[in-house]
Amino acid sequence: MKILVINAGSSSLKFELFDATKELKSRLRGLAERIGEGEGIFHAADTEITAPIPDHQAAMRILKEYLEENAEKFGSPDEIRMVGHRVVHGGNTFVEPTLITNRVKEKIRSLFHLAPLHNPANLKGIEMAEKFFPAAKQVAVFDTAFHQSIPEREHRYAIPGTYYRQGIRQYGFHGISHQYVSRKAAELLGRNDLRLITLHLGNGASMAAVKNGKSMATTMGFGPLAGLVMGTRSGDIDPSVLLYLLRGGMSVDDLDKMLNKQSGLKALFGSNDMRDVEAGYASGDPKARLALNIYTGRIRKYIGAYMALLSGADALVFTAGIGEHSALVREKSVEGLDFAGIEIDKQKNQNPAKYGGEVQSARSKVKILVIPTREEQEIARQCLNLAHEIL
Ligand code: AMP
Repeated sequence: MKILVINAGSSSLKFELFDATKELKSRLRGLAERIGEGEGIFHAADTEITAPIPDHQAAMRILKEYLEENAEKFGSPDEIRMVGHRVVHGGNTFVEPTLITNRVKEKIRSLFHLAPLHNPANLKGIEMAEKFFPAAKQVAVFDTAFHQSIPEREHRYAIPGTYYRQGIRQYGFHGISHQYVSRKAAELLGRNDLRLITLHLGNGASMAAVKNGKSMATTMGFGPLAGLVMGTRSGDIDPSVLLYLLRGGMSVDDLDKMLNKQSGLKALFGSNDMRDVEAGYASGDPKARLALNIYTGRIRKYIGAYMALLSGADALVFTAGIGEHSALVREKSVEGLDFAGIEIDKQKNQNPAKYGGEVQSARSKVKILVIPTREEQEIARQCLNLAHEIL
């Protein structure tokens, strides 16, 4: 059988097709982008189609037609027995991969207010997959689900209980990625009883403290603004600043834009791309130095916090665009942590793949791993587990 994974964003639709017989094998991945923005682009394997893609329905139709036309290469779309969807917010309700029913769709809709940018697009993806792949089971895999194991002493804010009862608590995100790299780290180290600190450093960024495969804490909160400095998001900030700005006459929308789109590396350096910051750092630009110091200083602070929470750590796991590719960020994130048994091997750190992804020094008590994240694969794996139960 085949599993199709769909990650529908507001203006893009990512997909990956897997053969799922004994184990998962990726057959095809691609992307429809600039949906609803005039001329859209559809990429799959070596094909690139430029055409208007006015909405998600059009994107899904192009994908279906592409699969039909290339059935000889990738197998008929009729072999797709399951479509796995990334859904960003599962609230307190969804803790595992969930077969889509009308009630599940209603519940996802009822969570729109918690993820107004993501859940509506995710639901569109589900509805369109139901339309174009009607014979397949539709399954939702939630980005918050992995963090539902975080205990109340961690996920609860110290504000009046009435807000907690309304669902105001920490949820955390990037759960699919944190879960994937935690499992890969356990495979690599050959044991499950591990205290891991996972660092998903992409354009959005978060860390998690993971004990025996379960998330115990994470840096993002009620929304994705909390915690680490990101490409364009502020990360942790004293809420008094927000009150001050609002009282000073700033509109809620402008504040939202400032914190989500104009902050982080972009505000500190001028670009949200770590490659640009690195280039600035190499040429001695003091702004780049400061941006990197703030960025990696925040990471170091959370490494310390999570080691305290886990009573130590067996491994740090770096992943996502920056975590996988920036040797400089990895090096600076663990600078001065030798007192805690964390020491990087600078040479190995330049080329982790050559060393099986392990870049700690021989003296380091804590392993330092670099593991490329594969969120689509994790979604497909969770779908396959469910398929074994229900198909
Ligand atoms: P992601 O959200 O995981 O796709 O990560 C995207 C971010 O990774 C980009 O905005 C860059 O800042 C960063 N990135 C990608 N490639 C590199 C690289 N070779 N070196 C440093 N940073 C990189």
